[in-house]
Amino acid sequence: MRYNVFGRTGHTVSALGFGAMNLPNVSLEQAKEALNYALDHGINYIDTAAGYRNSEEIIGESISHRRGEYFLATKTNQREYAKAKEEIERSLKRMKTDYVDLLQIHYVNKPQEFKLAMAEDGAYQAALEAKREGKVRFIGITGHRPDLLACWIEPGQFDQVLFHLSLVQTFALNELIPAANRLGMGKVAMKPLSGGFVQPVEKALRYTYSQDVHTMISGMVSVEEVKQNLKALETEVEAEERSELESLAAKLSEHNCRRCNYCSCPIEIPIPDMMISSVIRRELGLLPRGQAFYEKHKSKIVSCADYEPCKEKPLCEEKCPYHLPMQRTIQQTAAALV
Ligand code: SF4
Ligand code: SF4
Repeated sequence: MRYNVFGRTGHTVSALGFGAMNLPNVSLEQAKEALNYALDHGINYIDTAAGYRNSEEIIGESISHRRGEYFLATKTNQREYAKAKEEIERSLKRMKTDYVDLLQIHYVNKPQEFKLAMAEDGAYQAALEAKREGKVRFIGITGHRPDLLACWIEPGQFDQVLFHLSLVQTFALNELIPAANRLGMGKVAMKPLSGGFVQPVEKALRYTYSQDVHTMISGMVSVEEVKQNLKALETEVEAEERSELESLAAKLSEHNCRRCNYCSCPIEIPIPDMMISSVIRRELGLLPRGQAFYEKHKSKIVSCADYEPCKEKPLCEEKCPYHLPMQRTIQQTAAALV
């Protein structure tokens, strides 16, 4: 596995980062083993968030005694100064540490949210204050709209940016990564498997690994998964393989969905997951997690065609900033499911 200098932070980070979002789904014992195995085998970037249930506490319980061995990144979902300040303090306490290496303003997808976070009484000021106090070393931002992120980082107030980059979501390559490069920022890709939909797993990991990012956050919950991730990255991606992966990515990201979640369906059809998995489902089939997803939501998916308020004009499509044909995609999927 490669190591990269993490933009202007100057830290050297492993190209594979440990995504701790799903650790609350497993026993503390299993989480401890996975985290310690990852540190023992060269992973030195740990990513969590205040909003990932008790993930921060699990990190505190499992690896706070090894604090010097990893770059610790967390996030605040708060937009207001006071709430963010409180949340930063809580994160430190939960992770049993005096400082985090990176505090990211989490999941900023709409201009109004960005404005709130950057206002004089916004979350960014709380992050800056924590930085002055030595509780936060660097400040970053995360979001699901690479086009907006590319504009927002331009003034240079962030040290890092976290975005989707996978076989099914390549949009960060257009404007965001070049902008982050110009600014000397740390670049972090998330969800190489897009929440478990993308396969083959090894190709999915190697695609993101082959891109111009410093580290990719892969969600892992067991020693087995850490081993699988590390094994996929044992060798570098050479030109021929890269070109194959690029062609596959161009095909699988044809759906064009950024997972911005602007759309919401009154009958709760999970539109972003369906859009993102639509091409992979058709072309390659699904992994067990993907199959379980479709089984779980089948009755809702099928009822899209009969939902009266959307017959004239689909409610979801009015909200999509990219004008995607969600109704058609969902109804085509429904036809294949019955
Ligand atoms: S068109 Fe279908 S998916 Fe879109 S809002 Fe209506 S019912 Fe939901
Ligand atoms: S379908 Fe459109 S609105 Fe919904 S998540 Fe995808 S890009 Fe966003």
